[in-house]
Amino acid sequence: MRDDIVIVGGGQAALSCAARLREGGHQGAVVMIGAEPWLPYQRPPLSKAYLLGKTEAGRLGLRAPEFFDTQRIAVRTGTRVHRIDRAGRAVELADGERLEYGRLVLATGSRARTLPETVSGGLDGVFTLRGIDDAERLRAALADAGRVLVVGGGYIGLEVAAIAAQTGRAVTVVEQTDRLLRRVACAQTASAVGALHGAHGVDVRTGASLARLMGDGSRVRAAVLDDGSTVAADLVLVGIGGIANDDLAAAAGLAVDGGILVDASCRTSDPAIFAAGDCAVFPFAGRRVRLESVQNAVDQGIAVADALLGRDVAYAPVPWFWSDQYDAKLQSVGLALDYDRVIPVAAARAGGWAFWYFRAGTAVAVDTINDARTHMAARRLFASGAALSPDHLLSSQFDLMQYVRADARAAS
Ligand code: NAP
Repeated sequence: MRDDIVIVGGGQAALSCAARLREGGHQGAVVMIGAEPWLPYQRPPLSKAYLLGKTEAGRLGLRAPEFFDTQRIAVRTGTRVHRIDRAGRAVELADGERLEYGRLVLATGSRARTLPETVSGGLDGVFTLRGIDDAERLRAALADAGRVLVVGGGYIGLEVAAIAAQTGRAVTVVEQTDRLLRRVACAQTASAVGALHGAHGVDVRTGASLARLMGDGSRVRAAVLDDGSTVAADLVLVGIGGIANDDLAAAAGLAVDGGILVDASCRTSDPAIFAAGDCAVFPFAGRRVRLESVQNAVDQGIAVADALLGRDVAYAPVPWFWSDQYDAKLQSVGLALDYDRVIPVAAARAGGWAFWYFRAGTAVAVDTINDARTHMAARRLFASGAALSPDHLLSSQFDLMQYVRADARAAS
């Protein structure tokens, strides 16, 4: 029992942790417990290729089923943990079964925020998107929808808006803040993305909030916005943010604050319990952050496994993610927080852009649109810790890749 590791969660962070434990020579049992009926699968295609019918649920698996047998990773799918008994070092499943652990990993993910019933009216035709089942329902409904309303101008909303517009639906996006991507990107990136949607006929309304949905019988037919205007819609996609699944942790008395609080070693307030992925709030560059991204799930899962294997860990990721909308690939590196300047740079390839974020004269993040070369170079730059100033960037002679290579040489 002392060596046995139980992982609550069946997603990317859980898999990453379990796989790393075996790679690192962990001998005890590794048990993953996931509420969904699937082995760990890729979520990013759900708001992209899956909706277009270009991939199927059976092709989303992150590893073949045999992997779990050969690696001796026991996966309990369709199983919910009901309670953590910290004193008894056990988790209790919904059916009353107890599983003892030596150490416990919480990789419980996040869930989609939903509209209050007073706004949604409990109508049919209103969707959130998080798992395969949601994507399946949304894909089926999209096939019959003519007018799509997207509530929320974050990545979920915009990716679904792009698919709906591309496939001939009339699409309106309603975002309550003053611009798209408010939480994750600068005004320049948001405006480029907004222009892309505008060019595809999407009606983007910022500073607009949903007052209520209206139906004809039980089906949604329109939305009333808070300025009194009405938008016709026979399908509504709600992409208004994610909420960390920290309820189990909170009920067990672990420290939570908008997610499960962990230290740099990914340890919660109980030294036998760790957390990784969307559910974890961790120290990063002098503040606490929670990241909902594949990169974070993978890297933090590895960091937890390393900590469990007794290796020193100070989780300090280079955050990155991507989004596909129409024929544009958006990529971001670093964290766009507390920046005081943004410098746009046209890419070598026509139509591509990079938007560099600076804080106190040093680059802290960059968004690129159809400029994968800059994205990859920036990942190396931020991983190396080399400083990049606006003067460097704006010099006519500046070549980012050369700069990154020179820095690597100087460091070696
Ligand atoms: P998000 O990034 O938090 O964006 C949701 C937006 O909806 C926010 O600007 C929010 O404003 C706004 N909003 C909230 N309530 C609203 C209302 N009633 N009416 C209109 N607008 C409203 O969340 P998301 O797009 O749902 O995505 C969930 C998570 O998945 C995010 O972490 C996202 O980055 C991630 N994701 C990533 C990818 C990718 O990497 N490609 C793709 C999809 C999703 P407030 O901030 O004021 O609430």
